[in-house]
Amino acid sequence: MDIKEKLDILSSSAKFDVDTEPSIIDTVTNLENDNMPGSIYYSKTSNGECMPLLKVLFSNSCIYDCAYCINRRSNNIPRATFKMDELINLTLNLYKRKLIRGLFLSSAVFGSPNTTMNTLYLTAKKLREEHNFPGYIHLKIIPGADLELIKQAGFYADRMSVNLELPSEKSLSYLAPDKNKSAILSPMNYVGKHYQEWMDQKNKYKYSPTFIPSGQSTQLVIGASPESDFHIIKLVEKLYLNFHLTRVYYSAFQRVNQDYRLPNIKNPPVTRKLRLYQADWLMRYYGFSSNEILNEEEQFLDDTLDPKTKWALRNYQMFPVEINSAPYELLIKVPGIGLKSAKKIISYRKKYFLNFENLKNIGVALKRARFFITCNGKYYGKIYNNPDIVRSLLTNNKQKNNSQLSLFEI
Ligand code: SF4
Repeated sequence: MDIKEKLDILSSSAKFDVDTEPSIIDTVTNLENDNMPGSIYYSKTSNGECMPLLKVLFSNSCIYDCAYCINRRSNNIPRATFKMDELINLTLNLYKRKLIRGLFLSSAVFGSPNTTMNTLYLTAKKLREEHNFPGYIHLKIIPGADLELIKQAGFYADRMSVNLELPSEKSLSYLAPDKNKSAILSPMNYVGKHYQEWMDQKNKYKYSPTFIPSGQSTQLVIGASPESDFHIIKLVEKLYLNFHLTRVYYSAFQRVNQDYRLPNIKNPPVTRKLRLYQADWLMRYYGFSSNEILNEEEQFLDDTLDPKTKWALRNYQMFPVEINSAPYELLIKVPGIGLKSAKKIISYRKKYFLNFENLKNIGVALKRARFFITCNGKYYGKIYNNPDIVRSLLTNNKQKNNSQLSLFEI
């Protein structure tokens, strides 16, 4: 099998492993024009940049049989495995031609977890040490591999990730019987600790070997198992707290296999996935706890309203807040005021009193915010003190312009 055929198989096998923002996934087909079939995915960096990465599996021949996965051993699909130098040369070639800025390397489990992890480790090591590859490298951690081997790989990668896959141990053993919770959490914990140690050391010492400077992430499949959104965001909250995770990615379940254990859904739960990203965003940047977003009585996120607006309607007695005096912590809880807008408001009002027009220029989403604020004591929401009416107005707005699905302007 030649390299083009392998790349075709191994890049399409990798497309179900989506560690990127929902709004920026893009498959670039210009490689096909370049006689090089394959996919490049855009990954969003911490500074908001979009970075093209070659995203492939090293192999799609798997010894495991996860119910939801196209690459599982019981599927009769074309199989391929790179030779290490083939993948290295391909990466260098695309990088030199400025088609990619890095490599996102994962793999099905071939041979054993250690064999697979060792192959990923050696590929990254060779790229860095023998070819001085300066690009970004994201490596998947293979659950069950030796922790020391995983740690060594971390010295050559910018980011590592081990997929949690499913939100509970019960679902994991039902749908991915070859995997277990501790084989996933133990490397996550180990890598998280070393990442934290490296962060501490780099602040103290002039030189300390770089260890996954972009941190570690994980991925959860949404909708393949019955756990509620409340269960998921509580789990995610703990992951951020205990494992020094940089990101959790959510992948909407797509039924690619006929398997009695899988739910019979026609379309992937895309809106649910976006709402989970919004809830995740609120917990990481806006100071919300999982219990503020959902609770025992309300277990699922609303598909018609974003979670911040839902929270504001539940806590309507806290509003309206006065734009010219509210503290930053309260401003960022107003629907339609994002982190950037809140900072601008604080800075602007040091010199001036803000009016409604100023807010528009600052970038506040007034369609939502106007129901929750006053400007110099004046309320612009028209209907006061009635969250049910506000809710229906906001839901109608959403149906008109779909703005509630925006990931970042919450
Ligand atoms: S381990 Fe499971 S999810 Fe990963 S490639 Fe193999 S079958 Fe698929």
